[in-house]
Amino acid sequence: MGYYEPKGFYSGGRWTRASRKFESLNPADGSLWASVDDADLSDTKKAIESAHSAFADWAALPFTERVDYMLKIAAEIERRRDDLIKAVQGEGGGWFGKGVHEANALQEIFKSAAGAAYGNIGEVLPSASGKMSIAIRRPMGVVAVISPWNVPALLSARQFAFPLVAGNTIVLKPSEETPYCGGLFFAEVCDAVGLPAGVFNVVTCSRDNVGAVGDELIENPAVKGICFTGSTAVGRSIAAKAGAHLKKCCIELGGKDALIICEDADLDHAAQLANFGSFMHQGQICMSVEKLLVHEKIYEPFMRKFRERASKLKVGDPLKSNDHVIGPLINDKQAAMVKEQIEDALAKGAKAEVGGKVDGRYVEATILTGVTPDMLVYQNETFGPVAPVIPFRTDAEAIAIANDTPYGLSSGVCTSNEQRGLAIAEGLQTGMSHINCSPINDEPNAPFGGAKSSGVGRYGGRWGMENFTETRWITVERGGKKIPPAF
Ligand code: NAD
Repeated sequence: MGYYEPKGFYSGGRWTRASRKFESLNPADGSLWASVDDADLSDTKKAIESAHSAFADWAALPFTERVDYMLKIAAEIERRRDDLIKAVQGEGGGWFGKGVHEANALQEIFKSAAGAAYGNIGEVLPSASGKMSIAIRRPMGVVAVISPWNVPALLSARQFAFPLVAGNTIVLKPSEETPYCGGLFFAEVCDAVGLPAGVFNVVTCSRDNVGAVGDELIENPAVKGICFTGSTAVGRSIAAKAGAHLKKCCIELGGKDALIICEDADLDHAAQLANFGSFMHQGQICMSVEKLLVHEKIYEPFMRKFRERASKLKVGDPLKSNDHVIGPLINDKQAAMVKEQIEDALAKGAKAEVGGKVDGRYVEATILTGVTPDMLVYQNETFGPVAPVIPFRTDAEAIAIANDTPYGLSSGVCTSNEQRGLAIAEGLQTGMSHINCSPINDEPNAPFGGAKSSGVGRYGGRWGMENFTETRWITVERGGKKIPPAF
């Protein structure tokens, strides 16, 4: 898939043309990847109206019919997996293996959502007056979903599959960088499986229109819930607007994740985890390793193994070779930001042990040592293939350095002592922590989400269902409730 011709955006079960288009470029060489419909405020209102009109019937379906749709979607994704893999490469600049992972993970998400629908249970409560007292879950209405470009298909699906199977209807707005993988791909899939019109809608728009479109997706009275994954700056403003309208939202943001390598770790395994965690998808994963903390006793032997692995990673256009594990960064802005962080670190005394070269949007896998807290690469999310390595002496020191950030998404600890790993994980201020693995982990039935400035709410499994269902208390009086005789 070198070029993609969209049929429009997808609203009310129809492919619809906007009055303008915007260009989606292949980040590998800047060539046109797709000319995409630039939906505006009025297009967005119509998509929300369609979702609102479809809600009652969708919510009233036996849940097993919604489950059937999830399984049909998973099967249709399997049928289209080669298209998706090529698009992950051409639209998003991702390595072939990243495309394979995304295609596989998507199917699991829809199967997991199907399973979660069977567990969408309520509760029977004790009642002081002998009532039958129950708490039940109901879908809310239209859920708006705004997704990022870095793992666009997986992150869109993770956000909408669970609310959808719970009986909500969806308006999805993918990133302008990845309108196909993050949105139109799903419109094609849902169209192909015959999802009822209006149940699932995709509005594509440019950065010029995103302010108005984004506000409508939050403020429109028919929208009852908001899912957002993206940067902390935009997420904060979305959460504030959702709060002003008293709407539920689940917000997943950036990270500055640490991987801690203790002196009793298996060093070959740790070096592989560091290499994968730091450089998978050019470091453009919210859970990428952004601080590599290495115990001073094994610093040298670990670094030898890490350098050897990192220096073998090939940089290049992912569509030209499956060996190009390091593709381009998504756009010039991201590349400039990563370049600034590398230059700032080197100017302040850091050393590039491996890599360090930036050529347009291509950045080599880079290992920086001599990193200090005054450097941008220590303080800010990098979102590029840069691994700052910092030695430590005690577990308490490693925990303190890991926690020295406003973010709190994920973390990893390598040790042969599971008790020690659990004690360190306990001290880390992150929503997720993985012992003997990198911070990059995502399973659709697990609670995924961050602490501190990395977000609020959890996606996945029953947590994903609970976010976008309303809990209602219902009672049946059976003669035990005494009303004051004065009445
Ligand atoms: P971004 O915040 O720039 O964009 C995210 C989405 O928000 C896009 O769809 C964009 O069009 C939309 N948007 C932008 N301005 C908006 C507005 N005013 N109103 C409504 N929507 C608006 O982020 P990005 O550059 O696409 O993604 C990279 C960031 O996402 C990184 O910081 C990364 O760490 C984070 N991220 C977090 C997770 C997670 O699960 N925690 C996952 C992936 C990415």
